[in-house]
Amino acid sequence: MSKRDYYEVLGVQKGASDDEIKKAYRKLAIKFHPDKNPGDHKAEESFKEATEAYEVLSNEQKRQAYDQFGFAGVDGMNGGSHDYSSVFRDFSDIFGDFGGGIFDSFFGGGGGRQSTGRGGPAHGANLRYNLDIDFKDAVFGIKAEIAYSRNISCSVCGGSGGSGRKVCPTCGGTGQVRRNSGFFSIASTCPSCNGEGFVIENPCTNCHGKGVTKKQQKIKVTIPAGIDSGKRISIPGQGDAGPNGGPSGDLYVYVTVRPHKYFERDGNDLYCVIPISLTQATLGTEIEVNTIDDTRVKIKIPSGVQNGKILRLKNRGVPFLHNSDRRGDMYIKLHIQIPKRVSSKAKALLRELSDVIGENGKPDPVPLSEL
Ligand SMILES: [Zn+2]
Ligand SMILES: [Zn+2]
Repeated sequence: MSKRDYYEVLGVQKGASDDEIKKAYRKLAIKFHPDKNPGDHKAEESFKEATEAYEVLSNEQKRQAYDQFGFAGVDGMNGGSHDYSSVFRDFSDIFGDFGGGIFDSFFGGGGGRQSTGRGGPAHGANLRYNLDIDFKDAVFGIKAEIAYSRNISCSVCGGSGGSGRKVCPTCGGTGQVRRNSGFFSIASTCPSCNGEGFVIENPCTNCHGKGVTKKQQKIKVTIPAGIDSGKRISIPGQGDAGPNGGPSGDLYVYVTVRPHKYFERDGNDLYCVIPISLTQATLGTEIEVNTIDDTRVKIKIPSGVQNGKILRLKNRGVPFLHNSDRRGDMYIKLHIQIPKRVSSKAKALLRELSDVIGENGKPDPVPLSEL
């Protein structure tokens, strides 16, 4: 594979000063940084290319060899192929966020990450469960049984993973291995212990040294009255068991409420549409409607009510979450239905009505705002 000249890659002259080289690389590293160009293979290649060029040109010995013998002069010195995957994995650790001044600590030295002791008890992972519930169950609350699988501490080894636990000889217990790559030192997860910092000589046969096993479990979750879609309920300690005897994570139940056939919800208020007939609207009447509690409530329809009129039933809405004594309201939108088919007798009566009212077939337009 043909390679571009390292000076050309960085865009500097052959006699460039160390400072110029550093500046040129810094510019390219920011531009092609993989965190900034996710999924962009070309940018990743450019980043690798610039990093390789910088590794050589920032090192006096390597640069001399390169100047004299070209790529042949530095091939052996670079130790063969580069494992750039670890560079990318740990880059966010090294660079931190791409906010301001990330390179200050980077170039100023002393910005290296302190390795923390590993291998001790750690908090287990939180788990997510998506729960669909019926509309009415969201309004009034329910005890829902859910089944899911979680990691629990291994009953055979008690979470230790086995016997003969010792500090990882590869990383000395830090869980990380460091490698100098050009002007920065790269930390990557120790391959011998997967970052745990220790290894187990006689792994437990039940959990294969993991200290945890999978368990299917069922639990009852109290869904409070008034809950709505998108809310989550946390159940402490029902997530994955923590590594090495650490505390378990939590279970988060995310609620989605199924739609109702008739009711729609807006916060704590309920909306529905009730059809009434032309004569009911004209003459006024009393009707009975079903509420979400499945009780029937009588409401008065005043005579001459117009289509789309909204009536309110106080305290027949959704209970307030964690304060179920308070409830929202129920709103009823009246929909006046024009009869599609009427008997000849009804037609005769309607014609008589039309005559009495004095309908003339020449209506005046009405402004929209008056409707
Ligand atoms: Zn075990
Ligand atoms: Zn290790």
